[in-house]
Amino acid sequence: MRIYISADIEGIVGVASYDQTEPGGFEYETARRWMTRSVVAAAAAAHTCGAQEVVISDSHGNAQNLLLDELPPYCRLVRSWPRPLAMMQGIERGRYDGVFLIGYHGGSESARGVITHTLSGAIQRLRVNDVAVDETVLAAAVAGEHGAPVLMVSGDDAYVEQARAALGDVEAAVVKDALGRQSVLTVTPEQALQRLRDAATRALRRGDIAPFSGLAAPLDVRLELRSPLQAEVLAWLPMFERTGAHELRFRCTSVTELTRWLAFIGDYDLSKF
Ligand SMILES: [Zn+2]
Repeated sequence: MRIYISADIEGIVGVASYDQTEPGGFEYETARRWMTRSVVAAAAAAHTCGAQEVVISDSHGNAQNLLLDELPPYCRLVRSWPRPLAMMQGIERGRYDGVFLIGYHGGSESARGVITHTLSGAIQRLRVNDVAVDETVLAAAVAGEHGAPVLMVSGDDAYVEQARAALGDVEAAVVKDALGRQSVLTVTPEQALQRLRDAATRALRRGDIAPFSGLAAPLDVRLELRSPLQAEVLAWLPMFERTGAHELRFRCTSVTELTRWLAFIGDYDLSKF
């Protein structure tokens, strides 16, 4: 059995503010340790259930948050950007039996949740076939196109509710309640690790979760960018139709292709100009 984990930091136990999510900020070094321990707890539970290999994608910030020395030998780690499949890089390397999304958070159109956003600062809003798409749906759809189901998600309570509304009855570990955008009622790290172990174990004992297929091609993509300059420059390319100062419309034949475009656009962010 092989398991794939994509790990973000905003939905990790204890994390409540932007400071904790960036190197140099208040408590970042502590938050990355919580993140590492969370991922290891889920990976260890998977290993106990029979996973011989766990591939982990470090999917936040500079994508070098997880402490490599803390990972057990059955783990492999995807680090650093840029990379075309972004938060799901590594899913293309062989078959996986299941995917865990750990430390994830609500999207830019979520009214409730901790540090909600969708992808990089360059992107403000993403709609596909008239439905709001967040990082969880993108991850699940890319995994689905590679034949792997999302079995478990973890983050704040609002996030888990939204993820289940989008993905169906997946297993979940709620590690904090969202009191506001930058305020939480959190459990302790030890409690969070236990919840992650339990959710991962429950997830791997089930056999009824199918790969996500909720984003059907052709994909009609509407993307709202922070920078009107970036929208202008991208509209030089024939595939992009400019539908507003900040808005582009384009078509994709798969979510994997869409993810490549979003990674490209996010990595060449013109919003500072
Ligand atoms: Zn993040």
